[in-house]
Amino acid sequence: MDEIVYFTRRAVDKGKIVCWVFKALCTKCKKGLMAQPRDPKTGKPKIRAKEYVCPACNYTVEKEAYEDTLMANVEYTCPSCEYVGEIVTSFKRKSYQGVKAIVFECQKCKVKIPITKKMKAVGEKDDDEAAAEE
Ligand SMILES: [Zn+2]
Ligand SMILES: [Zn+2]
Repeated sequence: MDEIVYFTRRAVDKGKIVCWVFKALCTKCKKGLMAQPRDPKTGKPKIRAKEYVCPACNYTVEKEAYEDTLMANVEYTCPSCEYVGEIVTSFKRKSYQGVKAIVFECQKCKVKIPITKKMKAVGEKDDDEAAAEE
């Protein structure tokens, strides 16, 4: 799981979505995989960090700018036509009905399928990010 920035599994009506995003190589040295900075005390990644750091050269990129360059791998069962497909789409969140979401199109019926951020109660841990922590 160390190579993954984001992972989520959803069930939507008749459909299913699994989406994951791999870490990308540092654009400066092309050696290190960009990662969240680690807490010097615990050695665990700081999942709330606002930046990503290259472990090889220490090049730092703002979290959102970095994530916008990543590609999301999606395996889905279309909630509309039940087509089963795989697609690679931009991880950049788009606005979908007023909510930020990764949006992709069913390859068969062309319906737009959003992967929104999960709704959560205040103080609750974000499942998506918790999964990437391992
Ligand atoms: Zn680097
Ligand atoms: Zn479809």
